[in-house]
Amino acid sequence: SPTRQFFVGGNFKLNPGTLQAKKDIVEILNKADIDTSAEVVIAPPSLYLLPLQQILRKEIKVAAQNSYLKTSGAFTGEISPTQLADAGIPYVILGHSERRTIFNETSDVVAQKTRAALDAGLSVILCVGETLKEREANQTKQVVEDQLKPVVDILKENDWSKIVVAYEPVWAIGTGKVATSAQAQEAHADIRTFLSSAVSSSVAEATRILYGGSVTASNCKELGNQKDVDGFLVGGASLKPEFVDIINARR
Ligand code: PEP
Repeated sequence: SPTRQFFVGGNFKLNPGTLQAKKDIVEILNKADIDTSAEVVIAPPSLYLLPLQQILRKEIKVAAQNSYLKTSGAFTGEISPTQLADAGIPYVILGHSERRTIFNETSDVVAQKTRAALDAGLSVILCVGETLKEREANQTKQVVEDQLKPVVDILKENDWSKIVVAYEPVWAIGTGKVATSAQAQEAHADIRTFLSSAVSSSVAEATRILYGGSVTASNCKELGNQKDVDGFLVGGASLKPEFVDIINARR
């Protein structure tokens, strides 16, 4: 939709590589001819947020990959949303499937983290998505709604202006198996319908819904032209020069 600003996020995950290797990626982005009508965010490991933010062109923002549900205290190893905000970090990714699966984050925890992040003043890229088993059992819509429900319950209507939803089917993340544009469109339309009934029609209309899962330069145009696909969350390809082509998918 022309009313929803196209959004592209790059999730670097915990990829090995030095600060210099990451600076090289930033250099490519800084020099690239990018669609300035798109909102672009990169999410390096937390240790690199500040140095990369300092050298990034101002049109590109940074996101943390996680933050905790409390703002301070005896929580060794966690990342505070208020401390991210204090450092000028505008975004955080929450509920990524790797957090849900490997670190056992429930949808309730993801909702509490979302609440804490918004209270701190951050914007949130909220990830949802089904496993292959769930898709094959025709449970995609239900699984995604169950993941969204605790967030819906903990947010007020106006909080949604700070939320970007990322639909990321788990079977497509890092696998090279991309959802078809029809599968993506169907899931995105279902999410929008759910937001309309669970929150409001204006929130459903305004909320960006990103697709994530093996997005590349070669599949991004078709996916990005689907009516309810408002951008991408990109893992592997965000570390490569083709990330520029993905940013420019709508151009
Ligand atoms: C992700 O980690 O959010 C992701 C979509 O990864 P990839 O693009 O590598 O599938």
